[in-house]
Amino acid sequence: MAQDYKVVWAKCLEIIKDNLGKDNEQVYKTWFEPIVPLQLENNVLTIQVPSQFFYEWLEEHYIDLLKKTIRLQLGTTGMLMYSILMDTSIESTPITTSIPSTGAQATHNRAKDVPHLISDGNHEISNPFIIPGIQKLKINSQLNGNYTLENFVEGDCNRLARSAGFAVAENPGRTSFNPLLLHGGVGLGKTHLAHAIGIKTKEKHPEKTVLYVSSEQFLQQYSDAGKNGTTNDFLHFYEMIDMLIVDDIQFWANKAAGTQEAFFHIFNHLHQNHCQIIITSDKAPSELSGLQPRLLSRLKWGLAADLTAPDVETRMAILRQKLDNDGIEMPDDVIEYIAYNINTNVRELEGALVSLIAQSSLNKRQITLDLAKQMIDKFVKSTTREITIEYIQKVVCDYFKLPVESIQSPTRKREIVQARQLSMYFAKKMTKSSLAIIGLQCGNKDHATVLHACKTVANLNDTDKQFHYWVEELEKRFKE
Ligand code: ADP
Ligand code: MG
Repeated sequence: MAQDYKVVWAKCLEIIKDNLGKDNEQVYKTWFEPIVPLQLENNVLTIQVPSQFFYEWLEEHYIDLLKKTIRLQLGTTGMLMYSILMDTSIESTPITTSIPSTGAQATHNRAKDVPHLISDGNHEISNPFIIPGIQKLKINSQLNGNYTLENFVEGDCNRLARSAGFAVAENPGRTSFNPLLLHGGVGLGKTHLAHAIGIKTKEKHPEKTVLYVSSEQFLQQYSDAGKNGTTNDFLHFYEMIDMLIVDDIQFWANKAAGTQEAFFHIFNHLHQNHCQIIITSDKAPSELSGLQPRLLSRLKWGLAADLTAPDVETRMAILRQKLDNDGIEMPDDVIEYIAYNINTNVRELEGALVSLIAQSSLNKRQITLDLAKQMIDKFVKSTTREITIEYIQKVVCDYFKLPVESIQSPTRKREIVQARQLSMYFAKKMTKSSLAIIGLQCGNKDHATVLHACKTVANLNDTDKQFHYWVEELEKRFKE
């Protein structure tokens, strides 16, 4: 008997709620309640999610839970498909992706299909080994079509890495950037850029075989091959790739000696044959001490390009781009507020944006500055948000109707000096930054200048009525 999709989804929700537990009620409300079940056909349950962001968020954070839930409800042949509601109009795109409830991994072929994805019909490369005799490799590159170079916003934080990526995609294996090592902290865009280079390479050179693997996957495959006695096939397979991208290589540090050894051989083979190798790591090569020395020395052959945290302009550009892609409108003051207040990494920046969008669609509320403030407080303060120096400067400058850049200028104009001193004073009071850092960010001054500014402001605050009023007004704004 056919099951009713609504009933099935209601049961799924129960399981999900149960698994998330009491502590995660907010998560449940934000990410699962807004989902609308659409149909159940051939054991494939289709659910509608409000946006692309929403879908990606689910996939990134709750894929295991969803898989487990579907398996419990629909058995091992059960599948989940998403329909993404674009914009606020009721235009739903066709089914875009699927999670098989079995299988090691969900497919990464997302909404916009990778243009040059070569697929053997399998969504995964769980068994990537080719049959001897086949001339040209047909593999799923495992590239995520949303992670393009065009989508990768350029800023000071990533300029070198991004342009090296372009060069490598133009001319894979033929630049001095081989290997290209992308390193930087979490959420700064290593994985995105690595995929982007792969995608661009396939655009420029459709005949090239590109493969993206996580270092974890690579390790798993190597160890399976060992168990199955197919290590030679494993090596052979990897030696036929034109561009090999290995993500998060730090994962092998202080372990996986065999895997490192195998990779070392593959590396040598590919390098000799002018095939491109791209590696990402959350540590700089000099800090990757847990890797075998000879492998480490190979990694230093090419270019190591680091990704750092984006500045506020870049953060704003990233937010605008994400909104643009999703066709969502958001007032400028809200975008500014998010960009000024979330400065850790791009992933958190996106997280805040997504939460805000979800929250507004959930409660059918307009996205306003007030809503943004509430959200950011709820979702981010709980981690380790502290008010940023940039945000302080912005509030101070807005108050005095000065451009924010004026604080950075060497001018001695009284009103600007005052705004700078006030920014330093509040930065000292409200952030954990050192005097040196505050000085650096407020017009490249030294720590003694900051100290002097703090004293001046404190004095004036006690003796000058007008000044006292300003300090009070500004304090109110920070507390809003
Ligand atoms: P990492 O691999 O360094 O931890 P990711 O590549 O997973 O970081 O990036 C985290 C998120 O931030 C991704 O959704 C990615 O698309 C986004 N992102 C990072 N840098 C940029 C950028 N410069 N422009 C647009 N999006 C970015
Ligand atoms: Mg990554």
